[in-house]
Amino acid sequence: MPLVPLEEARAYVLDACRSLRPGPASLADALGRVTALPVVSGEAVPPFDNSAMDGFAVRAADTAGAPVSLAVVATAAAGQAPAVGVGPGQAVRIMTGAPLPPGADAVVMVERTVPSQGGASVEVQISVTPGTACRRAGDDLSPGDVVADAGVVLSPGHLGVLASVGVTEVTVFPPARVGVLSTGDELVSGSGPLQPGQIRDSNRPTLCALLVQAGCEAVDLGTVADDGPAISEAFRAAAECCDAVVTSGGVSMGDFDLVKVVLDRLGEMRWMQVAIKPAKPFAFGLVGTTPVFGLPGNPVSSMVSFELLARPALRKMTGFPPSAWARPAVAAVADEDLRRRPDGKTHFVRVVATVGHDGRYHVRSAGGQGSHHLSAMAAANALAPLDDGEGVEAGAAVSVLLLDGP
Ligand code: AMP
Ligand code: MG
Repeated sequence: MPLVPLEEARAYVLDACRSLRPGPASLADALGRVTALPVVSGEAVPPFDNSAMDGFAVRAADTAGAPVSLAVVATAAAGQAPAVGVGPGQAVRIMTGAPLPPGADAVVMVERTVPSQGGASVEVQISVTPGTACRRAGDDLSPGDVVADAGVVLSPGHLGVLASVGVTEVTVFPPARVGVLSTGDELVSGSGPLQPGQIRDSNRPTLCALLVQAGCEAVDLGTVADDGPAISEAFRAAAECCDAVVTSGGVSMGDFDLVKVVLDRLGEMRWMQVAIKPAKPFAFGLVGTTPVFGLPGNPVSSMVSFELLARPALRKMTGFPPSAWARPAVAAVADEDLRRRPDGKTHFVRVVATVGHDGRYHVRSAGGQGSHHLSAMAAANALAPLDDGEGVEAGAAVSVLLLDGP
């Protein structure tokens, strides 16, 4: 069976996955969601001219001969409509955020003033120009401004901007609800004693966590035995309750690798040997219209397969723009030899990337590079793709995919 280039496999999967139907979300539910429509401000921010400091609102012209003494005619607090104006020779004591009184065109910060005993007058020690310490209406946002374009991943700051213009609900893509299923007769969950031949299911918690980190909703569907009818039933049930399904195990060449067999029977399926190591075997199919990602069972393979093939498609379904489908690739320096043998595949070496004193990323192997070496994968924060060949020597430039962060 010929090896399929990673890019071809990924393009195939991306093509088969559509973004979900957008819907309304309250701001409380919108963090990390992707906007489906631009949000336009109906208001100005700030909504009125106001003071940027605690001090005295004045007519700038009155301060020309500073120090000058001005009569204090009122106090203006935040939250109050301006009542008393500032006439020539007058000042209004003003707090940060209070509307600028009529007649005033500048604020003198309180640190540059000396109020008289009793506060009836104030000595202004500096001369100011019109606009000093004033925040003009609309100098952040004007009505009609786009506050969040379509395709924006909403951050805490965006939610604040939306709230600042009175928007309480946004149209966003929902998180893909993704079922996670482990397959294998050998798998057990929890802490009980292992019977001969059994191992613990580590893929399910890992894949659920990767999904949450990818902005999806994970649905833990448990384990299913290496049994055709059981897998078939599990797939049918999963396809009904979920937008997509991620399985691990059962896609290799073994006698009991039934996931690919069942997927083929249930619907359209492509089983591939992808030109990567780890994570060569991969099955992708549609059960009805629900995409099913058949990842290999070895723990590192399932994670790498998720990163390279499932995650981009699930991010697409969740509305992320193409620039946010893949993990970010950054230039790095190999601080040690990263060796491999030619085999027609791209090797994704698990590495630890740190930022050096030179401001560049530096990488070292994270440990054992076997597809069962999950602890090295856990220690890694990046994958270094090494093209077919002998690998790279210490000091060489490598591009790495950063796994931490969104
Ligand atoms: P398979 O892809 O089903 O041939 O499994 C390949 C290897 O991964 C075998 O050693 C399995 O025991 C192991 N494996 C499969 N599923 C899991 C899982 N959910 N957690 C941990 N190891 C697994
Ligand atoms: Mg298996």
